[in-house]
Amino acid sequence: MPVDDIVSRLKRFGADSIKREDGVSGIDVEPAARALVNDLERYPHAFVVACIADRQTKSDIAWSLPHLLREAAGGFDVDTLLELEKDKWTSVLVSSGHRLATQMERLLPAAIRHIRHRYGGDASRIWADGSSGAAVARRFLAFDGVGPKIANMAVNILIRDFGIQLTRPMPDIAVDTHVLRVFERLGLLGRLEHSQLRSTQGKQHLRLQLRARELSPEWPGELDWPAWYVGRTWCHAGRPPECDACCMRSVCPRQGVGSDSATGSRT
Ligand code: SF4
Repeated sequence: MPVDDIVSRLKRFGADSIKREDGVSGIDVEPAARALVNDLERYPHAFVVACIADRQTKSDIAWSLPHLLREAAGGFDVDTLLELEKDKWTSVLVSSGHRLATQMERLLPAAIRHIRHRYGGDASRIWADGSSGAAVARRFLAFDGVGPKIANMAVNILIRDFGIQLTRPMPDIAVDTHVLRVFERLGLLGRLEHSQLRSTQGKQHLRLQLRARELSPEWPGELDWPAWYVGRTWCHAGRPPECDACCMRSVCPRQGVGSDSATGSRT
């Protein structure tokens, strides 16, 4: 199957899955929590807080956090959050079950301060009209604790799920274990030898990022969500993939499936 057909299938699945009325895709949180992170008009910093928290924990925990903070603070204005006592941040984060609660206690108040000082309290200025995707990713990187994966993920969500119009250059793919596994099994990215991988995780990430640019130069991050979703839903690590149910089944060469799917080794 030609690579172009596989990429087109992946993009089509991504485009067909967009439900703009639902905002952020792929999260399963209570309606009030969803409404808050989707309210870019009144509370754009809720989206930023959730993005910063979305690592090394279940994404549903991260995307519920703004709502939990609002309940503890009695509001979600920037000024209200700036006045929230440290022990309230601590109790919300600990009870949320976030694996990095201690780190988030520092990073999230710092993010609110950055939004106040750099953007006058209006986080939507991060993605102001006329910005390029690359510029918005760079602005996300200025938040303490945000690396390339979160920065690209945030911008890709803004474009994909909220229809925010940004100019080129567009953001890269957010390198993620699901995305990497799916790219390999779809035959979009060759595997490195195990001996190379042990010392070169950074190289592997860069390879994925460059490959997405090659395959989708107009917007590399367009491949992000569909590949992540396929990996999370059907193309498992640690147990056999559910190819019969997968949206990519008609075009996927299933590279390496069988040799590693039972052990979960992605390398
Ligand atoms: S068809 Fe199977 S191997 Fe291919 S992406 Fe889907 S689950 Fe993974």
